[in-house]
Amino acid sequence: MIKKVLVANRGEIAMRIFRTCRVMNIPTVAVYTHVDRGALHVRYAEEAYCISEHEEDTSYLKPDLMLEIAKKTSSAIHPGYGFLSENADFARRCEDEGVIFIGPSADIIAKMGIKTEARKIMHEAGVPIVPGTKDPVSDYDEAKKVARKIGYPIMLKALAGGGGKGMRLVREESELESALRMSKSEAENAFGNDAIYIEKYIENPHHIEVQVLGDKYGNVIHLYERECSIQRRNQKVIEEAPSPFVTPQTREKLLSVAVEACKKIGYYSAGTLEFMMDKDQNFYFLEMNTRLQVEHPVTEECTGVDLVRDMILVAAGNRLPYKQEDIEFRGAAIECRVYAEDPENNFMPSPGIITVREAPEGRNIRLDSAAYAGFEVSLHYDPMIAKVTSWGRNRESAISNMRRSLREYKILGIKTTIPFHQRVLLNKTFLSGNYDTTFIDTKFDMEDLKLRRNSDPTVAIIAAALKHFEEEKEAAARATTVPLVGESLWKHYGKLQMLANNF
Ligand code: ADP
Ligand code: ADP
Ligand code: MG
Repeated sequence: MIKKVLVANRGEIAMRIFRTCRVMNIPTVAVYTHVDRGALHVRYAEEAYCISEHEEDTSYLKPDLMLEIAKKTSSAIHPGYGFLSENADFARRCEDEGVIFIGPSADIIAKMGIKTEARKIMHEAGVPIVPGTKDPVSDYDEAKKVARKIGYPIMLKALAGGGGKGMRLVREESELESALRMSKSEAENAFGNDAIYIEKYIENPHHIEVQVLGDKYGNVIHLYERECSIQRRNQKVIEEAPSPFVTPQTREKLLSVAVEACKKIGYYSAGTLEFMMDKDQNFYFLEMNTRLQVEHPVTEECTGVDLVRDMILVAAGNRLPYKQEDIEFRGAAIECRVYAEDPENNFMPSPGIITVREAPEGRNIRLDSAAYAGFEVSLHYDPMIAKVTSWGRNRESAISNMRRSLREYKILGIKTTIPFHQRVLLNKTFLSGNYDTTFIDTKFDMEDLKLRRNSDPTVAIIAAALKHFEEEKEAAARATTVPLVGESLWKHYGKLQMLANNF
């Protein structure tokens, strides 16, 4: 029933989806903007269409164009994450115009896209929710009243929230008025909707989420949980499965609550229920992401399930190919998100051209990436350029595998979060497995990163060697006689690699 798949997205997630399509022998269609004309996803797909209307146009948010191309190529649309993935109007238009949308129903996306709606629905379905307001607060006076009733500290949150935006922790009343103003303007900018509601701030919470998968015949299963408490600016940077914090009794309760709720609301396709869990293992529903999630690889590595494949099968009208008891959870997996950001400078974006890229290889490592040497990381898009996922028979082994692959992973030309990940993987609190969302602020010493850099000559040596190589190349290019490149590229890179491996 699905003849072709158009991925209305870019970067690593477009590649991720195309790879499964290739495994399933489904031809693929890419779309790209002018900035992305050299991107990997454009080369990987069988067909590619430019959606930039002019050179400066960088948007992947074009329902009309996506639909037009999908119809022309007889494709179903996979939206990936971000962009149009949680746009209910777009999903509805696909449904109405005969294009298969590879995701849940437009109706569910609409409801879950408004956090207060999602809270009501989940509450009715028997799921504990974070204490807070049912509806948005109209103004400062109302916010003040509500906050007093809930009790400080509180969290101001955008109704249409996503990507950690529009959210603010308020510890006391004196901070409320300006915080509300800032949240509103941030929400207006990010979502075109400035509505704010209030939640109780859960102190030292763990972010625990449940992966679910359902079909159109009422079958829903879970694929266990993920722990995503290593966050900066309320956004995840490291995720793992299983959660090292959750006890077996809590896990059983959490998973069954999530599955029952999804059955009640008739959920199909892949989805994630996010929860806050306090130190006593009490858990509260936070939000539902009605799409494939960035961190889905850790679940895939431990269950063997290909979530993209099953999303495609379900969208085509098939039943889930397995039952809950067929899902076997093995070992442990960790994912490190590699961002083009400077961890030493408050995770500021670090765009630019990647000059060298040496990717980790070998056993129990998975790399989801769209980066290559020569690729320019643009400020226009999400700064996440790759995800490294490691698997092990247990958590310790997954951690050792991750450490060795991060040591192999070399990206020059831009700053990345790789050194940050390396430090986290040595941190005592992280290793203990009992860490919460305050980890980076309270348990992690940014100064460590600087110390390490100053005492680690690897990068300096590679950079110097590279500079030398570039100079030689330029000199050779300038020469009018036979070009004189001192040695072959193979030898040259071999030497760089040897230098790097010696540290
Ligand atoms: P997760 O990382 O758990 O999948 P996020 O909420 O962090 O979920 O969003 C996934 C990706 O989509 C992120 O990389 C983020 O940049 C992007 N994204 C999600 N929501 C928004 C939004 N409202 N505005 C901009 N980008 C968003
Ligand atoms: P988004 O849609 O941006 O992903 P979420 O509601 O999922 O927003 O929250 C993202 C993160 O913000 C959580 O993982 C958590 O770290 C923090 N957070 C959100 N709400 C609360 C709360 N009520 N108490 C404590 N932390 C919260
Ligand atoms: Mg979230």
